Amino acid sequence: MGHRWEPHTAAWDKEARAYHVTHECDRCGTQRKAWWSRTGEISAASYSYPDGYLTKDVGYIGAEGRGVLRTEYLTRVFSSRADSTNGRKRAS
Ligand SMILES: [Zn+2]
Repeated sequence: MGHRWEPHTAAWDKEARAYHVTHECDRCGTQRKAWWSRTGEISAASYSYPDGYLTKDVGYIGAEGRGVLRTEYLTRVFSSRADSTNGRKRAS
């Protein structure tokens, strides 16, 4: 509690086909980064804390914050697009 998020940057990522949105808390400098789809859905989020803060998991994402999860997310995005063109989802 207590973060005050201010818009920081938002950029369209062609490869991710999503908005990479960063908010920054103007009280403590923590940055919240999220991928937003074109429909406004938040697909992944991570927090990066300034020096002196411990990194904490983001509840609804789990151990988000590592780059590998971001690439995993991107893989999901592209495979779900492929699935939808095939008509139904594949169980892996
Ligand atoms: Zn804060």
